[in-house]
Amino acid sequence: MRSLPYFCRGQVVRGFGRGSKDLGIPTANFPESVVDTLPADISTGIYYGWACVDNGDIHKMVMSIGWNPYYKNTKKSIETHVIHTFKGDFYGQILSVAMVGYIRPERGFESLDELIAAIHSDIEEAKIKLDLPEHLKLKEHHFFKTSVSTRANQILNGHRL
Ligand code: ADP
Ligand code: MG
Repeated sequence: MRSLPYFCRGQVVRGFGRGSKDLGIPTANFPESVVDTLPADISTGIYYGWACVDNGDIHKMVMSIGWNPYYKNTKKSIETHVIHTFKGDFYGQILSVAMVGYIRPERGFESLDELIAAIHSDIEEAKIKLDLPEHLKLKEHHFFKTSVSTRANQILNGHRL
């Protein structure tokens, strides 16, 4: 995918209340403004990369780009699971992400256990891949160094700079 790595940030909004948190895998949802500017060559599926909330530490993440049931699957949704235990929710705060690589396409699962196992395997793959030197260096990218308060909703890679 030509557009990777892809950098974007936006305010965390409420998701579909599918109970991701109850599965132990909360996913922070981006608003439509971020979804609508996603380059066309970034297909649906599971990605790995780096993420930070407001001006906090940079953590590994896994992200799902899928079809949004609220819009009868005509619009995409972007959901990020940050591989870190936070003290609480961060709705309304600014999530900054660098999408670095692709793991797999979206797929259906026979059971909830199978889905959870697949996500855990995605998380393990993300952790290993992100330790590669070429991926580690993206943590140092200037995108993460600027204060988010002045750059909310800005998007790199040719969109709204
Ligand atoms: P929703 O349907 O509103 O997205 P989830 O059950 O997916 O609900 O929970 C997502 C919320 O959990 C995020 O918006 C964020 O505020 C919070 N959260 C806490 N820890 C994490 C984490 N490690 N990764 C992603 N979101 C987290
Ligand atoms: Mg969610």
